[in-house]
Amino acid sequence: MGNRQKIVIVGGGVAALETAIGLHECKYVDVDVAMISPTADFNYRPFTVLEPFGIRHVAEMPIRSLVDGCDVELIVDKVSRVDQTFKRVMTSKGTLIDFDALVVTTGAETIEGLPGALTIGDKASLIKLRHMLGEIDAGLVRSVAFVATAGASWTLPIYECALLTAARARHQLQSAVRIHVITPEQCPLQIFGEAAGERVMALLQDAGIKLHTSTRAQSFDDGEVKTITGAKVPAARAVALPHLVGRRIPGLPHDANGFLPVDRLGHVGDTESIYAAGDITDFPVKQGSIAAQQADAIVSELAVRFGRAQESRPFRPQLHAVLLSEGSSTFIRASGDKGPHRGADVSDEPLWENAEKIFSRHLSQRMQRLRAAGTKLAAR
Ligand SMILES: Cc1cc2nc3c(=O)[nH]c(=O)nc-3n(C[C@H](O)[C@H](O)[C@H](O)COP(=O)(O)OP(=O)(O)OC[C@H]3O[C@@H](n4cnc5c(N)ncnc54)[C@H](O)[C@@H]3O)c2cc1C
Repeated sequence: MGNRQKIVIVGGGVAALETAIGLHECKYVDVDVAMISPTADFNYRPFTVLEPFGIRHVAEMPIRSLVDGCDVELIVDKVSRVDQTFKRVMTSKGTLIDFDALVVTTGAETIEGLPGALTIGDKASLIKLRHMLGEIDAGLVRSVAFVATAGASWTLPIYECALLTAARARHQLQSAVRIHVITPEQCPLQIFGEAAGERVMALLQDAGIKLHTSTRAQSFDDGEVKTITGAKVPAARAVALPHLVGRRIPGLPHDANGFLPVDRLGHVGDTESIYAAGDITDFPVKQGSIAAQQADAIVSELAVRFGRAQESRPFRPQLHAVLLSEGSSTFIRASGDKGPHRGADVSDEPLWENAEKIFSRHLSQRMQRLRAAGTKLAAR
């Protein structure tokens, strides 16, 4: 018993689940794994923008079902401090939990992206978005601006929302609703390069959406989005991406924005046994597939550390996106060898297996298996 090692995962999101399932695949016999999550449910964020359009339910899956059979102890609590010297964490209930390796996956906090606008991304915004769509259906709102805020790396939800709103307005109303997309990007989904940008521009054009590129919005007030150059875009409502900041935990070396500096194997700064993956890291792209790939790199590093593998597999970012628009899906992938800025594969057909909105090696498979088995997805 004395030689057993303990891996503690902090969080219950994409990176945490990918780590837990990945560790199980390593078939350790002498390693205990615990996951500390404030809730017993996993919240699948992409659906927070789709549910108001009636496309998907907001999926809250029980974490226990997702890690079923993985020998993971789920502790429903919140980590409030990390003690690097004694290698233990303290929880908000006052429990001390020792670790040999700690994997921090606490994600980012979403704060108001544009003063005065509706910020999407959490459960509260889902209700507000639903309300706004009701106003459009009733003919009370005739113009909406969808705004990608400066610094937002994952802009896809704003294009998706604009396209779905345009389609809905077309079906519900005789006259069209004026829709704008305002983005600091030079082209839509700039992170994927030109081919993806052109596809999205064509979709926006077909939907009659006015695109304002290289434009930074500053505020929304009095029926206008004001930009930093002083230009004004008239809109009765504005919907914006959130601004993300890291969730700080005392005892960890957060940077000025609350993020944790990591290398390609997930080591946090100069610490010895602390790893981090996902939105909490200082990797500039905050995206679920990236979170899962970072988790996979940590799992490979832990496999070397605990004697299950010879070589670790460093994180090599690959971007995957599924953009839903009226009656179609666009699949976009920027592979590591091409590099996100040099071009992407764009297709109407899935470009990878288990084509979930958040692509991941282990978690996607589990989610699909659970759905196939009829595990309840709760609409909240
Ligand atoms: C509207 C929207 C749409 C999106 N669409 C996509 C998409 O289509 N594809 C895609 O790949 N990505 C998408 N993303 C991004 C994706 O959701 C995130 O990048 C991803 O969830 C990050 O995973 P994570 O594990 O790092 O963090 P999270 O999934 O946020 O999980 C963090 C976890 O840590 C827990 N936690 C927080 N503090 C503590 C603490 N002190 N102790 C213990 N646990 C703690 C939280 O409760 C949570 O369980 C979207 C995001 C938004 C907002």
